[in-house]
Amino acid sequence: MALQVYSTLTRKKEPFHKKPGEPVSMYVCGPTVYKPSHIGHMVGPVIFDTVKRYLTYLGYKVTFVVNITDVDDKLIKRAAELKTTVPALAAQMTEDYFACLKALNVTGIDHFPRATDYVGGMIEVIQKLEQKGYAYQVDDGVYFDVSKDADYGALSNRDPEQMEAGARLEVNAKKRNPGDFALWKGAKPDEPVEVQFDSPFKCGRGRPGWHIECTCMAIKMLGETLDIHGGGLDLQFPHHENELAQSESLTGKPFARFWMHNGLLKMGTAKMAGSVGNVVNIADLLNRHTAETVRFLLLSTHYRSPIEYSEERLEEVAQSLEAFNRFFERFERISGKSFHQLATPMRLAEYEAHLEREKKKPDPEERLILGFGTHRRFEDALNDDLNTAGAIGHLYTLLGILNQFADQYGDFADSEIRKGPKFANFKHGVETLRELSSILGLFWAPPAKQSLGGGDALVSGLMQLLLDLRNNLRTTAKDAAKDNPLKKALFDQTDLIRKRLAELGVTLEDRPGGTTWRVG
Ligand SMILES: [Zn+2]
Repeated sequence: MALQVYSTLTRKKEPFHKKPGEPVSMYVCGPTVYKPSHIGHMVGPVIFDTVKRYLTYLGYKVTFVVNITDVDDKLIKRAAELKTTVPALAAQMTEDYFACLKALNVTGIDHFPRATDYVGGMIEVIQKLEQKGYAYQVDDGVYFDVSKDADYGALSNRDPEQMEAGARLEVNAKKRNPGDFALWKGAKPDEPVEVQFDSPFKCGRGRPGWHIECTCMAIKMLGETLDIHGGGLDLQFPHHENELAQSESLTGKPFARFWMHNGLLKMGTAKMAGSVGNVVNIADLLNRHTAETVRFLLLSTHYRSPIEYSEERLEEVAQSLEAFNRFFERFERISGKSFHQLATPMRLAEYEAHLEREKKKPDPEERLILGFGTHRRFEDALNDDLNTAGAIGHLYTLLGILNQFADQYGDFADSEIRKGPKFANFKHGVETLRELSSILGLFWAPPAKQSLGGGDALVSGLMQLLLDLRNNLRTTAKDAAKDNPLKKALFDQTDLIRKRLAELGVTLEDRPGGTTWRVG
C-alpha cells in the first residue's frame, strides 16, 4: 500500500501527492510561550516529528517549521503578574519548550520562527489583503471580512451563519460581521510599550493578530502552498479556518495540500487544558516516568483519536516497555554491544538491492529474522494514515521472534554457533528492530538506570560477584550426587540469594546464556 493521509478539508484519506525524493514542506502551529509546557503541548510535536521521520525514511526531503507566538494577550497578562517583561517571559518559556522537545526526542523541527521577528512581513500581508478588499480598518484595528471569502467555514465544516453560536468571537460593534477577526490590534492604553509595534494603519501602534502570524511565517518560510499543515484538533476553528481564509485570499492558491489534525489528550472525560486546570507539567511528569514512556504513550493511539491520559495508563506503558528493555540487556550480554548505539541501519530497499547484487536469496528463517515481514507490515501500518499504534504492534511481534530465536540457540553461547549464519541473522533482526523503532523516535537512549546507592559501576560489580558466586553454587549442586546431603544445602543457598535480592526489589532471570538482573 502506498502512503495515504487523511485530509481534514476533504474528510477522507487521499494518496500522498508527492514522490519520494521530492521536497515536502510541513508547518505546525506552535505554542504561545507564557507558561511552562504541559504534556498536552507535546502531543503535536511528537506526532509530527514522527510524520517527518517516516517521510524521511521513505525518501522525502522534509522541511518542518513550528512557530513561536511570543506576543499575545496571555503573555501580557502573565508578565504583569510575574512583574517581568513580555520578551523576558517569552524567552524563558521558549527555552522551557525547547527543553521539553529535546527530552521527548523531538529532533525534526528545522525552524522556529518567532512572531515578533516577522511583524514587518505581517503588516505587508495585511496591507495586501486590504488592497484586495478582504480587510478593513476601524479605529481600534484592522479586521478580516469573512463575508468576502465564499469558502469560509469549509475546513471546520461550519456554516458561516451558524458560526456565531458557541464560538468565542471577538466582540466589537464596529465589525461588519460578527465572525470578522482582527488582523491588527491597536495598542490599548495600559499595554506595555514592548508589545507595541509601529504600523501604517489608522489605529497606529499595535500588534498583529494571532492568525496572521501563521499565514505570514508559513508563506515566508515554506512558500504559498504547504504540503502539510498540522495542528491540534482544537485549532481547526477559528485558528486554521482563519489562516486558510487569509492565505488563500492573499495568494489565490490552495494554502495547504493536506490539513492534518491530531486528537487531544483527555483525562477521564475532560480535555487537558490550562483553562480546565488539569494540566500535567512535563518537568513533574519526567520525575515519575521516563521520557520514553511518555513518547510511547502518545504514539500508542492513532493520531486523530483522543489520547487517554492517566497515571495508570503510564504505568501500563512503562510495564510493557520493560519487555524491550529486558531484550536490550539480553542483546548486550550476548553481543557485547549496546542496542542504543547500533549504527543507523540500512533501509529494506537497500538491503534487497544488496541481495540482488549478491545473487543470493534469503532462506525462510533468514527472512523471518531479518524482519522482512515485519518491515512490510510496519510500513503498511504507517502508510495507512500514520497508524503508529499498528506499527508499534509489529515491533512487539519482532521482539517476540528475536527472543524466541535467542532461546532456540542458547543465547549463542556456543562459539561455533556464534561464528555461523544464525548469529548473523539474529544481529540483522536486531538492526531491523533498531531501524523501525527509530522511525517512531523510540529507544533513543537507555532508560536511566535506577541506582541502589553507591554508584552504578560499584552496584554492577557487586551484583556480578553475587551472580558468579550463585552460579558456582548451582553448578556444584547440579554436579553433586543425588544422595549427597550438600546438594540440597547448596540449592537452598542459591534460592536464598534470589529471595533476599527480591526483597530488595532486584529480579534475577536465569536464561540459557547466563543470569541477568534488573531492578523491579
Ligand atoms: Zn497557526
